[in-house]
Amino acid sequence: MKYYFYIFGCQMNEADAEVLAGFLVNMGYSEAESETEADLILLITCCVREHAESRVYGKLGELAKLKQLKPSLIVGISGCMPQQEDVAEKLRQRFPYLDLIFGTHNLPDFPRLLAETEAHGGKVLEIVDAGEVRENLPRVRQQSIKAWLSIMYGCNNYCSYCIVPYVRGRERSRSPEAILAEARELVGQGVREITLLGQNVNSYGRDLALGTPTDFADLLDAVGKVPGVERLRFMTSHPRDFSDKLIEIAARSPVVCEHFHLPVQSGSNEVLSKMNRGYTRESYVELVRKLRAAVPHAAITTDIIVGFPGETEDDFRATLDLVREVAFDSVFAFAFSPRSGTPAADFAPQLGKTEKSLRLKLLLETANEISLARNLQLAGTRVEVLVEGPSKTNSERLTGRTRTNKLVHIDAAPGLIGQLVEAKITRIQTFSMLGEVIGGER
Ligand code: SF4
Repeated sequence: MKYYFYIFGCQMNEADAEVLAGFLVNMGYSEAESETEADLILLITCCVREHAESRVYGKLGELAKLKQLKPSLIVGISGCMPQQEDVAEKLRQRFPYLDLIFGTHNLPDFPRLLAETEAHGGKVLEIVDAGEVRENLPRVRQQSIKAWLSIMYGCNNYCSYCIVPYVRGRERSRSPEAILAEARELVGQGVREITLLGQNVNSYGRDLALGTPTDFADLLDAVGKVPGVERLRFMTSHPRDFSDKLIEIAARSPVVCEHFHLPVQSGSNEVLSKMNRGYTRESYVELVRKLRAAVPHAAITTDIIVGFPGETEDDFRATLDLVREVAFDSVFAFAFSPRSGTPAADFAPQLGKTEKSLRLKLLLETANEISLARNLQLAGTRVEVLVEGPSKTNSERLTGRTRTNKLVHIDAAPGLIGQLVEAKITRIQTFSMLGEVIGGER
């Protein structure tokens, strides 16, 4: 029996997919090379933006034909989409061929749900609310060199545009002991880079029992001290909760990488307030200043939403100014897409598609110019690269990442995959660079 996944959205879904794969392997399944050879196809979905949802609907339409050709095929859908109110039922009605529908919170029940689907010839729908964190779930890691390590689930922030708290539930932190045990296990398996994962890692531990003296800074410190951890990253950070203690620990730890992803979302205080982000443009700039003072060559990346309801020309200009002022290493920008059930979906005025696209284009042009300028500063320098695998665009090259998370292509033999090498940067582009290995393999 073979399974095939379509994974949409963020790293949370990639981490969930590893657990689902773990269950399936325990049940005797193996991964299919393509959907046509699969006995089970699962869509692990995202509803954070309209675009991701449209792609899921498109794929569901395509799979209807495959299901007709192969009626024994089990098609299931999970992730954030069915977890939204009423959506599971709507999916069932619109795509009656779906065999299995479940949400983000009943992932641990997947073996039972699949067994019921197999026993009853399909048509199982179960959505539950968030419960306790469940440990010791099986997992098939997607990569052997780098690993996600989930430290918490859910989010309490209720940013006015965001659906995540409604579909992932309130914050639930894993215990420090469980996280440290998993970090040790990963090192034992040869993993060289760990990314601590959560919707807002900076609020880690607030929900743990009184007397647990662990905040995120303590946790980062503790994981960084696990023998054998060579590179440590974390995401996502909420700028409001990034403490001075965290800056100090990130600066002094030899394994915490010099890259901080700090979603700012807007450069206008008016818009930030409507977004319910809990910080101002000034406090954000001050945070970046402190980070750069403590970690001089840090790369700072961000997420920005353009065309938030009521965003004026002046608000948008303030965002462009902020991008220039901070000089981000890279910007992930999106046009606002209203999510049903969130406050911002009902804010007025909603901006038109053309206006939003124009602003997005302008923002990306500005951000890309700055990314190129930041990258040019690395021309001719020596950087440490963790070699991850063959380049997707040129099979003769390998590709890897610097500690600052820059993508580097190198001309080198496949034997270097999984190695930390020293490379000299020979060519610069906006989104990647070319390097030449000059040694330091380990
Ligand atoms: S911090 Fe805000 S944007 Fe991020 S997941 Fe939580 S509610 Fe969504």
